[in-house]
Amino acid sequence: MNIFVVNCGSSSLKYQLIDSVTEKVIAKGLCERIGIDGKLTHNPTGKDKFEETVDMPDHKTAVSLVLKALTDEAHGVIKDLSEIGAVGHRIVHGGEKFAKSVVIDDGVMAAIEECNDLAPLHNPANLIGISACKALMPQTPMVAVFDTAFHQTMPKKAYLYGVPYEYYNDYKVRKYGFHGTSHSFVSKRLLQLIGKESGPSKVIICHLGNGSSITAVKDGCSVDTSMGFTPLDGLIMGTRSGSIDPAVVQYLASKLDISLDEVIDILNKKSGVDGISGVSSDFRDLESASNDGNERATVALEMFAYRAAQYIGSYAAAMNGVDAIAFTAGIGENNATVRKMICSYLGYLGFELDEEANSKRGEEIMLSTADSKLKVYVIPTNEELAIARETLELIK
Ligand code: ADP
Repeated sequence: MNIFVVNCGSSSLKYQLIDSVTEKVIAKGLCERIGIDGKLTHNPTGKDKFEETVDMPDHKTAVSLVLKALTDEAHGVIKDLSEIGAVGHRIVHGGEKFAKSVVIDDGVMAAIEECNDLAPLHNPANLIGISACKALMPQTPMVAVFDTAFHQTMPKKAYLYGVPYEYYNDYKVRKYGFHGTSHSFVSKRLLQLIGKESGPSKVIICHLGNGSSITAVKDGCSVDTSMGFTPLDGLIMGTRSGSIDPAVVQYLASKLDISLDEVIDILNKKSGVDGISGVSSDFRDLESASNDGNERATVALEMFAYRAAQYIGSYAAAMNGVDAIAFTAGIGENNATVRKMICSYLGYLGFELDEEANSKRGEEIMLSTADSKLKVYVIPTNEELAIARETLELIK
């Protein structure tokens, strides 16, 4: 069966069509600038890429253009829409309402809408994507896969903030965590690799990309994670500050004579390694600037690795040990320098780096030497495949 995986943003729509038997991508692509003008980039496997600048006033138009591309005679990959067995939608926020993926019905849509306040930029766009697909494929089953769901197993001591309890009760202020689909996918694979798919286990997943988060996974369940109420919390990221003293927000608003919203915008979009280095949010640029002697680029890399090592240490403490660690996402899969910098803090856990293995990138690798007590791996993440698997599981 073919599963259509949809990731709808406020002005974009990313998609993949995945064959659930072979787990191969049949086609993938992206609609950009929805509501502004519109551009479709469609990559059918084994055929030429198709690009089209075309008016996309709304997401329904974007979805219909994608479905047209998928069934087109020249660059299509299926004959008609009956070859799409199900649709899997990536949904950013499921609040406390969703601890796992669900088949979408009217009640589920209403519940996702109730979480809009928690992700005002993302959830409404995700809902528009569902409605657009439903309108064009009314008989096709649809599944919602949430970024937050995997972390719903965190205990209260991990997810509550030290603020008056009524803010949790009344306004749902708590840690939710994100990147759940990736943390779940990679932790399952890591547990396979270390032969601990059942029984007790303690692993830490480092999802290091533009957005980064680290999760402690005990016996297969998330017990703590570095992102919080929003994805701004935790690690220093490409352009996000990660955790800072909240008093800085008010202080900067006063010094710069700007609103709290504007400060939060700076913390989201102009901070992180980009803000520190003044060079770039991309770790390839940072590395080359650092190699050229740029001190701020060097300190940005050091801060990133230091904070990551702090989270690993705190989660090893929280779980009273750690069997294995996995690096994943753009930086975790590809950047040997950053991996080595983080690994340099792990000697106390009985870890030794296999330098030659670390020089590889973009594939599954064991980074630890054969004698190393702590096993460390690189495991490529694949959120679309994870969504396709969850979707298939639920509609079977
Ligand atoms: P996002 O959170 O947007 O999905 P990614 O997971 O793609 O981000 O991570 C982006 C980061 O990964 C960038 O800093 C980039 O330097 C790094 N990265 C991605 N691909 C490569 C690559 N092929 N080689 C080296 N670094 C890479």
